[in-house]
Amino acid sequence: MKTTRQVSRRRFLAQASLPLTPRVAASSSARKPNVILIYADDLGYGDLGCYGGKLRTPNLDRMAREGMRFTHFVSANPVCSPSRAALLTGRYPTRVGVPRVLFPQDKEGLPDDEVTIAQMLKPLGYRTLCVGKWHLGHLPQYLPTNRGFDEYYGIPYSNDMNPRLLLHSVPGKVEILEEIATLETLTPRYTERAVRFIETSKEAPFFLYLPHTYPHIPLAASPRFKGKSPHGLYGDVVEELDWSVGEILAALKRHNLERDTLVLFSSDNGPWFLGSPGMLRGRKGTTYEGGVREPFLARMPGRIPAGKVCHGLASTLDILPTVAKLCGAPLPPKPLDGIDIWPLLSGARSSLEREVLLYFDNVHLQCARWGNYKLHVARYNSQVYSPPPAGGRINLPLPRPELYDLSLDPDESYDLAPERPDLVKEIQARMERVLATFPEPIQRAYTETAKKKTEGQTGAFPRLAQ
Ligand code: MG
Repeated sequence: MKTTRQVSRRRFLAQASLPLTPRVAASSSARKPNVILIYADDLGYGDLGCYGGKLRTPNLDRMAREGMRFTHFVSANPVCSPSRAALLTGRYPTRVGVPRVLFPQDKEGLPDDEVTIAQMLKPLGYRTLCVGKWHLGHLPQYLPTNRGFDEYYGIPYSNDMNPRLLLHSVPGKVEILEEIATLETLTPRYTERAVRFIETSKEAPFFLYLPHTYPHIPLAASPRFKGKSPHGLYGDVVEELDWSVGEILAALKRHNLERDTLVLFSSDNGPWFLGSPGMLRGRKGTTYEGGVREPFLARMPGRIPAGKVCHGLASTLDILPTVAKLCGAPLPPKPLDGIDIWPLLSGARSSLEREVLLYFDNVHLQCARWGNYKLHVARYNSQVYSPPPAGGRINLPLPRPELYDLSLDPDESYDLAPERPDLVKEIQARMERVLATFPEPIQRAYTETAKKKTEGQTGAFPRLAQ
């Protein structure tokens, strides 16, 4: 974990509560970079044209040509809420208390002692807007406008949850615009808000967070896109998201902001019932790569080389520390799990040394990745979102850990554990060392799962031959 440039919580909050200081005002002449973070929902690693997919995505393909495309970028969790908690805090969702998907009946959200990217940038004079699916708590105290954003517009959780409210909020005020949000026009309405925000942000640097509602089900596209893709409604929806990216890039060009703006595009987790994980094994809700490997595109002309493909390992956890470095923001006081990947984005390095990356499903640690190797130690006994087996869906230890070399075996099909006991031991020791820094309930979940093995209860989905 990186602890460099960290400031005390007291000092951070003191800075956060200050109005624009002369120091910040003076820095506006050398304007800080703008940051746009576009986050799709349940988009597959193999959906986009620039990732070899079948769908027509000319604007995202252009982003890849004009910027950098990553092939080993992983989300910190295979489902919606925890993935977003990690993205916005740079810390594992199991560390920040959002290990599972939040529902409209839940009273919880991202705890207020965690610092989001927006809260980190606000003291530097940034204008901030969140448009789209928030999913880190829908009660007023958890909404984006209490987490560093000046304004929020969108459905505060998934579009398959009810009541499907469409909200608009500014600090101290929440307005319900629609009791049942109209799905067909969501993407163009989000886009219009995002473009207007760019167009009205000439006087200050800005942070635009655009977590799209789609292609999470139920799918819907506007009349302009519906029925146009040869790949059905999912194709229509992704093509409309691609159009939205094109509108944002065009707004930057119109206002001569392209070179001053870092644009990032990714998704929260792998594809669900539709969509393609490419050659990867697994889908949303699993810790196989298909559940967590995501497209990741980064564009900033003049700062990020054009047309480069990066095969180095990176994570959603890395966005906050990287944005902090780019924008000159002090890091939040709590230790981060992500690292600054600007050396990858700038083209200076092709890979970075880092501690093992952990893969959790809910509170359960299931895998760890170290370099090209990935160790699996536990798995649920059934597919997520399927009827549970008799006795319920439970997390079980594998009869023996499985080891995959993702550089040679991207679909995790050939277990190397028997041939490389040295690596199994090394990675397991590393993952357990990192786990020892987590809250007690997360450590307990791991030891209780491991205990099942000594009780003779092992297995996994798919069940291994013994
Ligand atoms: Mg999702």
